[in-house]
This record gives sequence, structure tokens and C-alpha cells, in this order.
Amino acid sequence: MTGANNTTNTRTSYDVIVIGGGAGGLNAALVLARARRTVAVVDAGEPRNAPSAHMHSFLSRDGVPPLTVLEVGRAEIARYGAVHVDGRVDQVEAAETGGYVVRLAGGATLDARHVVLATGLHDELPDLPGVRAMWGQDVHFCPYCHGYEVRDQPIVVLGVHPASPGQALLLRQWSSHITYVPHGRPLTDEERERMDARGVEVAEGTVSTLLAKDGRLNAVELTDGRTLECAGVFLFPTMTPNDGAFDGLGCEKNEQGWLVTDRAGRTSRPGLWAVGNVVDSRAQAVTAAGMGAAAAFALNHDLVDEEIERALVEHRASADRSTKAPVPAS
Ligand SMILES: Cc1cc2nc3c(=O)[nH]c(=O)nc-3n(C[C@H](O)[C@H](O)[C@H](O)COP(=O)(O)OP(=O)(O)OC[C@H]3O[C@@H](n4cnc5c(N)ncnc54)[C@H](O)[C@@H]3O)c2cc1C
Repeated sequence: MTGANNTTNTRTSYDVIVIGGGAGGLNAALVLARARRTVAVVDAGEPRNAPSAHMHSFLSRDGVPPLTVLEVGRAEIARYGAVHVDGRVDQVEAAETGGYVVRLAGGATLDARHVVLATGLHDELPDLPGVRAMWGQDVHFCPYCHGYEVRDQPIVVLGVHPASPGQALLLRQWSSHITYVPHGRPLTDEERERMDARGVEVAEGTVSTLLAKDGRLNAVELTDGRTLECAGVFLFPTMTPNDGAFDGLGCEKNEQGWLVTDRAGRTSRPGLWAVGNVVDSRAQAVTAAGMGAAAAFALNHDLVDEEIERALVEHRASADRSTKAPVPAS
């Protein structure tokens, strides 16, 4: 246990365990802790946007380093008694007595009545020299996050994904100097016509490497030796949800293999919730935070309902006992 953290905490049983301490998980924890629930956030400390120097499009946090936002979030949840645990969850299992057992790498276990999965997703990047090193700095995927920073400048879009042509057409909103490199995925006639109509240039070929000058991207090189100068490269990664901790619990998934939830974040299995990028690849940080808050509301209501049901059973049993109690002899 650390941190914003409670170094002396010895509790192992919580109302709610949140797995993942990004925007989604921390906001869920904040609302739940303020609802006077006992909460632990177990976090492996690798939020998806960590490679970026600045986070954008989050009201009141625009331009703030992503890790600073989370540091503030951890301090806020600690103020209400939520515990932050540095660690990775391997597996969540159903407990025999109801609720769930959360197994951490290294062997520790925690118990919870409900579990919120907020573990984000994994971006698989093309294996091209320079891409990983410049990811989040000069190589981006989300125009709403970093399009403004390269507005009006030359941008190259790599055709590495079926969604790439749409990405190029969208980016034209931010700059009139967009070049699309099909990169082995030939454009259909319709896609090519849309590129022409929208003023997106197509440079046939395959990118071999990204070139930097003074530590910043300044061009891409194609396999035939041509170079295209640019201030930014956009590409669409293959996104995979980090939902392995819920494997084996039988939660419903959609055809693409992503967990299905209702609008509040309930999975098909009672007591298991999922918010943020682990269920919605399009969720920006502010959206993930909102999903966390919405799930926390609904989750607390479910706990209150459970508690009322339990109290009713006890109340009726006690009323029953008093009506059956023998009348004292006079
Ligand atoms: C390069 C880049 C830049 C971006 N820039 C912006 C931006 O400017 N503005 C914006 O709004 N959005 C931006 N995004 C999107 C943003 O990253 C996501 O919207 C946001 O991170 C989603 O929050 P989340 O809480 O769902 O997941 P995350 O923030 O990814 O948090 C998930 C957390 O769960 C942890 N975790 C994963 N598995 C486990 C496990 N088994 N056990 C314990 N912990 C685990 C991870 O280590 C991580 O700390 C960017 C994305 C990228 C890739």
C-alpha cells in the first residue's frame, strides 16, 4: 500500500476494489469514497497516455501533464480514506461466501463486495523504427487530443489500419497539408475519391522509418528512398482491452471480444463493473472519468439496495420472534 496511499493500512476486505488507477478508476474511487464506502484502487501505474507531455480536451486540466492529473487524483481519493495499492491484479474470482477475491501478482489477495475494472487498453503499434520512441510526442492517433498542436502543419497519416483512411479525412479539419501513405493497404476507388474531394494527398508507397532532427520528428522515409517532411505522424493502433482479470467469470462480450456493459458500467455478472477504455476505446480521459463517476453512483445504489434487503430480512425475523415470544405468566 502506498501513497496517496495508506502505508499502515492492514485491511484486506473492501466494499469496492477498483482495478486500475487512471482517470476512470480514480473518479470511480473518488465518488465511492465520498459515499463512505471502503475502497481500494490497485494500479499497475502505466496509464495509456503516459508517453504524452500534456493532456488536452479535459476541462480545467487542458495542457496539464497526464501523470500530474493522476497524482492529484490519488491525493484526492486519499482525503476520503480510499487506499491506493501499487500492484497488478492477475485474476478476480467469485468468493464462496459471495463477493469477489482479487488476486494480485505476488500472491496477495483482497476481498470485495463489488469490483470495478478500469484497466484501460493496450495500443499495438506498427513495428517501424521511430514509432515507439516518438509515440505520444510527435506520433499520435487522436486528433482531438493532439491535432491542435500540429494545426496547419504537414501531417503524414500511415495506412496501417482499416480506420486509417477515415483518420486522414478527419485530420484535414486541422491542417490542409495531409499526406496519406497507404503502407501496403491499397485504397478502394471510393476512398481515393473521398481523399481527392477532401484535398488529402496520397503518396503511394510504404514507410520504412521515421526521421528526427534535434530530437523531434521532421520526416518519414519511404522504402523507395523518398522522404516526406512532416511535423506529425498519425496512425491508428490496434487496440486490445486489458480485461484479462475478468477472464473465467463468464461476463458477456460482444462480437469484437469487448466486455458488454449497460450505460452505468454493469457487466452481465452482478457485482462486476467496467469503465473507461477497457470497454470503450473511444473514451477520452474526461469520458473515462465520467464513466467512473456514473458507475460509482449506480454501484453505491446497488449496495444500498443489498443492504436494505438484508436489513428487511433481519427486521422481519426479529418482528417474527417478538410476535411468537411466549406471553409471560401473570
Ligand atoms: C499517446 C496518447 C495520448 C493521449 N492523449 C490524450 C489527451 O490529450 N486527452 C485525452 O482526453 N485523452 C488522451 N488519450 C486517451 C487517454 O489515454 C484515455 O482516454 C485514458 O487514459 C483512459 O483512462 P482509463 O482510466 O480508462 O485507462 P488508463 O488511463 O490507461 O488507466 C488504466 C490503469 O490501469 C492499470 N492497469 C492495467 N491492467 C492492470 C491490472 N491487471 N492490475 C492493476 N492495474 C492495471 C494501468 O497500469 C493504468 O494505470 C491519449 C492516449 C494516448 C495513447
